[in-house]
Amino acid sequence: MESKIIRQKFLDFFEERRHAIVPSAPMVNKDDPTLMFTNAGMNQFKDYFLGTRPAPYERAADTQKCLRVSGKHNDLEEVGLDTYHHTMFEMLGNWSFGDYFKKEAIAWAWELLTEVYQLPKDRLYVTVFGGDEGDNLEEDNEARAYWKEFIDSGRILNGSKKDNFWEMGDTGPCGPCSEIHIDLRPESELKKLPGKELVNQDHPLVVEIWNLVFMEFNRQASGKLVSLPARHVDTGMGFERLCMAIQGKTSNYDTDVFTPLIDHISARSGVSYGSDNQKDIAMRVISDHVRAIAFAIADGQLPSNNGAGYVIRRILRRAVRYGYTFLGFNEPFMYTLVPILTHQFDGVFPSIVEQKDFIIQVMKKEEESFLHTLENGLKRLEIIRADHAGDKIIPGDLAFELYDTYGFPFDLTSLIARENGMAVDEKGFQEAMKIQKNRSKADAARETGDWEILSPDTDVEFVGYDTTETKSHILRYRTL
Ligand code: ATP
Ligand code: MG
Ligand code: MG
Ligand code: MG
Repeated sequence: MESKIIRQKFLDFFEERRHAIVPSAPMVNKDDPTLMFTNAGMNQFKDYFLGTRPAPYERAADTQKCLRVSGKHNDLEEVGLDTYHHTMFEMLGNWSFGDYFKKEAIAWAWELLTEVYQLPKDRLYVTVFGGDEGDNLEEDNEARAYWKEFIDSGRILNGSKKDNFWEMGDTGPCGPCSEIHIDLRPESELKKLPGKELVNQDHPLVVEIWNLVFMEFNRQASGKLVSLPARHVDTGMGFERLCMAIQGKTSNYDTDVFTPLIDHISARSGVSYGSDNQKDIAMRVISDHVRAIAFAIADGQLPSNNGAGYVIRRILRRAVRYGYTFLGFNEPFMYTLVPILTHQFDGVFPSIVEQKDFIIQVMKKEEESFLHTLENGLKRLEIIRADHAGDKIIPGDLAFELYDTYGFPFDLTSLIARENGMAVDEKGFQEAMKIQKNRSKADAARETGDWEILSPDTDVEFVGYDTTETKSHILRYRTL
């Protein structure tokens, strides 16, 4: 089944069940200071759940353009290394705003996956919330009972609060969730396991495809949970992962969502996909990142030196360097992938089609400008690496030099360092950055007397990097 049809069948299924089919919100958030990029389907419905705006419909469904490269959800470091986390991806979702609840959400999810898409039942399993003593929450026996109508109890696993209890923030709507996973391991491997039990959730071929969230509580400022007057459903399913499962593949990059991109990269570089691990990673990274960059530009976010624009610039430079180092691309090339995207998303996401020429122009210029300094930057980095081969740490001031003179985002330097078994002194980098900021601020103040003029682009200031619990570097911003 082609991906186009898979997407349409999802929308049709929920339309037949009286859901309003709504357009995707933009991937770039211009109005919400707390969130740079849309990272889930529910973002655009936040006010309906909070009750600050009435929902214009009781049920809705859509496919949402999402980007997970910053904040709480930052998958950037996984992308290309694994085969199912993307920067930009589509999240298919269906919602009930105070209308249906667990029973229907579970029954429809099962019907869609096993009857419409014909996924094998014996490859699916689900998780339900297993309770939490601290919060005095019981396990979600209600969801478990509904699942039992469709699936063996041995395939219904209890999940922790971390994985199976969703909260919007420190306060506000929250509730248990139930996830659907698919086991894509080959038969031969399953046969080796005693009783064919699904024991290993963390296996790379056991993949989460759909998350069903049941909002039934409100967390008050005191931390206390009270029942919501209206209960809601919020679901999110990774479209590319769904395509992988339906098309019988074990990598999202082997589906028709990605093969046209991979084939093009392969033809242009003369490298065949599957011939070398590092080259394969490079091809996956490029085919992933080009989507993120193209959609960001289409939705109004140009690459720039701060804020959301710098996140996009960083992603682009990451991809350019992968292409340069591992696939021999020393001329702009990513922009040549854009027509594949506009063809794929014609009739799905209009902005990318409307902005095609502009996206090509911006991307090509960005690629050119970085390629200009990339070669010299890599040479410089080579020398730095050799000088510090003993302590295996690239000093912060040198990482800053790479940033300032050669346009190497910190995470790119740290990625190259990691590839060579080294690390980068992040604190030292931040300090060097701060010193330069202060210097340029002082210069600006001198030049303008009492007035400190801020260009529109400086409403957020880059203040360094944070390390998240997943150990990946994310940008930290402060609003001025
Ligand atoms: P995972 O545990 O695989 O990181 P998640 O629990 O963070 O996924 P959710 O926030 O529950 O993901 O999002 C709903 C669905 O969106 C997931 O079940 C998955 O199918 C899909 N999804 C999440 N993150 C990504 C990503 N980076 N790339 C592609 N699909 C994703
Ligand atoms: Mg995740
Ligand atoms: Mg998960
Ligand atoms: Mg999840």
